[in-house]
Amino acid sequence: MKYIDLDASDLSKFSDYDGHEVIRNIRDEETGLNAYVGVHNRNMGPALGGCRMYTYASDEDAITDVLRLSRGMTYKNALAGLPLGGGKSVIVGNPFEMKTDALMAEMGKGVDSLEGRYITAEDSGSNVHDMQVMNEHTKYVVGIPSEGGDLGGDPSPFTAYGIYCGIKAAAQKRYGSSDMKGIKVAIQGMGAVGYRVAKHLHEDGAELVITDVRDDVLQKVAAELSGTQIVSPDEIFGVEAQIFSPNALGAQINDVTIPQLKVDIVAGGANNQLATSQSGVMLAEKNILYVPDYVINAGGVIAVAYEYFDRINQNPFAFDLNRENLMKHIEGIGKTIGKIFNVAEQRSITTDVAADELAEAIFSDDQSELANGTH
Ligand code: NAD
Repeated sequence: MKYIDLDASDLSKFSDYDGHEVIRNIRDEETGLNAYVGVHNRNMGPALGGCRMYTYASDEDAITDVLRLSRGMTYKNALAGLPLGGGKSVIVGNPFEMKTDALMAEMGKGVDSLEGRYITAEDSGSNVHDMQVMNEHTKYVVGIPSEGGDLGGDPSPFTAYGIYCGIKAAAQKRYGSSDMKGIKVAIQGMGAVGYRVAKHLHEDGAELVITDVRDDVLQKVAAELSGTQIVSPDEIFGVEAQIFSPNALGAQINDVTIPQLKVDIVAGGANNQLATSQSGVMLAEKNILYVPDYVINAGGVIAVAYEYFDRINQNPFAFDLNRENLMKHIEGIGKTIGKIFNVAEQRSITTDVAADELAEAIFSDDQSELANGTH
């Protein structure tokens, strides 16, 4: 196994390089592991972010992704009210072909080599089992089912709950009421997150229009959630509704889809929804209220953070680390979103820009109350 920290001079040619603290390449010949761990910023605390495994076309692509994703986690963790910095790791390779327990074990050792500067978790291409394998080689891993406790495990239900709270906050802003009864929501993606968002909304009496590329899943959800309408993946963008909730892929808000949208609000859990920064401007011009993705989908990271602090027996908060307080913390996503809307309105900027500025104001100040654990 080899660890090489990339030089700042080599990294500066990447447009996503932002003075990252460390980008470590981890290689192991025997298992074929080729991974990059990125720590962007630790002003708020150790860097927490998932481990992605993906078929990158080149090492340059993997480095670009780890730079972008680790930086994104600094912003996400700051606005989620967590005393944690931003980090992420990427493994080069197709998870369905290359992933073995031996490879994940080497990855665990690689994570451990950062001695707690980086804490890993599930991401696309990795799962709870992989975290359990890594956990045998490092304690800096979360997203593991707890033995007996009420914290830990799959973050998706918590992500979905946060999205539900965020959707209500957007409705409050737009309609003066967060009541979901009779509100029509078009949901793209019926996976771990989208399905649970649909369930929360259905319970509240929302009218649902859903899509997915998996027809069997659609039929199952429609049978379970009465009154739910199914449309094809292409049709979802043109559905006349109050809310569009993207919960499948990134870059779904783009030059092609924005002209089709007939909604007041875009609020969903997918990462990197806006294809470009111009997409945020285009939404605002259409008077569509956009809820920044990394703010509304932070429920999962809040849950794994609680799991981590509980496991290491270090509570940074002035309240107990338990399920009830975790759910309250996730509900706080709604309040943060309300604040972002107000800042955007007052300063005539888009909501995605307002979110970034609010996050920067938090993590740029390493003396902040939050970092000192008095939040
Ligand atoms: P998932 O893989 O369980 O679900 C994604 C769903 O989208 C699948 O059902 C898939 O068939 C569907 N899909 C794929 N392409 C589609 C298309 N073109 N049109 C319609 N549906 C399509 O993933 P997930 O965990 O539910 O995550 C969904 C999104 O939320 C992703 O962007 C993910 O990065 C983001 N996210 C997830 C979490 C989490 O806790 N799981 C946390 C933060 C962000």
